[in-house]
Formats: sequence, C-alpha cells, structure tokens
Amino acid sequence: MRLFVTGGAGFIGSHYVRRVLAGSDDTVVVYDALTYAGNRDNLRGLEGDPRLVFIRGDVCDRAGVGEAMAGCDAVVHFAAESHVDRSIVDPDEFVRTNCGGTNVVCDTARRLGVSRVVCVSTDEVYGSIDEGSFTEADGPAPRSPYSASKAGADLIALAYRETHGLPVVVTRSSNNFGPYQHPEKVIPLFTTNLLDGLAVPLYGDGDNVRDWCHVEDNCAAIDLVLRQGQPGEIYNIGGGNELTNRDLANRLLVLCGRDESFIRLVADRLGHDRRYSVDTTKVAGLGWSPIRQLEEALAATVDWYRHNRWWWEPLKATP
Ligand code: NAD
Repeated sequence: MRLFVTGGAGFIGSHYVRRVLAGSDDTVVVYDALTYAGNRDNLRGLEGDPRLVFIRGDVCDRAGVGEAMAGCDAVVHFAAESHVDRSIVDPDEFVRTNCGGTNVVCDTARRLGVSRVVCVSTDEVYGSIDEGSFTEADGPAPRSPYSASKAGADLIALAYRETHGLPVVVTRSSNNFGPYQHPEKVIPLFTTNLLDGLAVPLYGDGDNVRDWCHVEDNCAAIDLVLRQGQPGEIYNIGGGNELTNRDLANRLLVLCGRDESFIRLVADRLGHDRRYSVDTTKVAGLGWSPIRQLEEALAATVDWYRHNRWWWEPLKATP
C-alpha cells in the first residue's frame, strides 16, 4: 500500500511513519509544510529508506496535494495547527489549515478515488465534561478556537462521506505524550524547564483534568482504524490515565529531581476546559487497548528529553 501521510514531520505523524515503515511493506509519502512544529529531525534515521518519500507542501495547496497524493491508496491526515494557546492569540491559521486543509485533502482523495482516509482529530472537539465520558454519539461542543477548527474539520470530512461516499474515518484521541513532542506542549515544556532548573507555569488552580495516552498507543489505534475501521465512523482513543495538571506536574518534579518550589501558578488559560474524557469501547471492539503503563512511559519520556537535548534546545531557543 502507498500511504499519503500529512503532517508526518510533526510529533504524532512522525511516530506513525516510523511504525508503518518498521511494521509493514507500505510506502509512505510524507506531505508536510514544515511549520515551526514540523521537523525533519523527527524522522532522523529514516532518510535512507527507499519506502519513505518526503514532500514539503501545504495542505491548503490543491495542486501540490493533488500531485503528491496521486497514486496513493490511503491517506492519514495529521497536519494541523495543534496548540490551543496559539489558537487563542492567532486563530486564522487554525481555521485555514485545520478546516481548509482538511477540505482540500478530502476533496483530492475523492477526486483521485483513494480507498481510505483517516482524519486524525481530538477529544477536545467534545468540549468539557465534569463526570463520565463522551462517546462517539455525542455531538461536538468545542470551546477553544483550536477545538472548534478541529470540529469543523471532522464535520467537513464526514460530510464527504455522506455526500460523495468518501471512505473516511475520524479518530479522536486524548492528550498524547512521548519523544519528539514540541516543547511548547505541557509535558515537554515542564520536563525541559525542570531539567534546566527553571520553574513550570501551572494554569489556574491546577485542577484541570486530562487523559494521557502514549503516542505509540495512539499510532497503533490509528493504524488499526485505517485498516479495519468502518467508513463514516468516529473512533475515540484514550489512555485511561486521567490526571489533574497538578498531579502531572508533581510526577514530573519527582522524575526530574525537583521540589514543589518549582511550581509557579499563573493566570488561567482563557476558556480553559475543565476535564476531557472519552469512552473507548468502540475502538476496543476492533481489538485495541493501550499497552503503555503511565508511570513507566512517563519516566521513559522524561529520560528521552534528558538524553536528547540536541533535539529540543534549538526549538526552545526559537520564539
Ligand atoms: P504537531 O503540531 O506536532 O505537528 C503538526 C504537523 O503538521 C507539523 O509537522 C507541521 O509542519 C504540519 N503542518 C501544519 N500546518 C500544515 C499545513 N498547512 N500543511 C502541511 N503541513 C502542515 O501536531 P501533533 O501533536 O503531532 O498532532 C497531529 C494531529 O493529531 C493533529 O491533527 C492534532 O490536532 C491531533 N491531535 C493531537 C494530540 C496531541 O496531544 N498532540 C491529541 C489529539 C489529537
């Protein structure tokens, strides 16, 4: 199979590319604009693999997407603007890339007769939930510009299924963590700050809850959904590891050998969602469950940042 992977030089996309190249005979065409979040170093070590093709391009560029996708059997669409804080100060690029880019990717896949499209989305499209968990039957109720743009992308993708019969599936995962995550995101930000002896900024009262899923577990689920998911369906993916941000910070303090004086409470994020939680029964029905244990995986992640300063130091030095 020849896979067209948008955003394959980003955090999750690059893990997915590694997984496919290591575990199948598939060829992968990575299509990525290399924004501040994209990084060829995320694919380091794979340069010599003849089954990996890298094309720099924007998902909003119809001609570029059409040329690069031609001959591909399936699409896994990761490319997005992905940081909530950035969406609050500068939402335009989120709507352009996340909604506009998804439209171009789906329309091109339709025109070329691609046999499967996976649109990678987020649990944040459901909005906040105080108790219980969202199922795929719950409608979107996004509350940030980021999650609104991802909900728009999901609706666009699913409309291609209804209107044109495009065999599209949507995955909605909880927060991911692991190596190669941009140090603007909370786990690498806190970890790298603590390794450098700097304080970590904790939003509000620190009691917001996120469910943490190791990136390799998410990639396994995405790959399963690509190969076995039902067209037109949504699949929630979650690690089953709910933590308050304060709990998370405390675990990272211990792993980095720092004490609570390194926590600095800062003004809350605007419109900060209190809790995300998704029910993953449906993807479990395909045979998926997360295999990474939180404690061990978090320790391994901190170790990776400890030993790979070459990767994150230049990113932290760039505003
Ligand atoms: P990321 O920011 O690390 O990577 C995004 C990639 O997309 C980068 O390589 C970037 O260069 C590329 N890109 C951005 N705009 C582009 C454009 N216009 N054209 C082509 N390429 C472009 O993001 P990530 O954390 O790897 O997330 C991947 C996907 O998973 C996103 O769709 C995101 O919404 C979703 N998601 C992420 C998480 C998470 O915790 N990181 C959780 C759930 C869902």
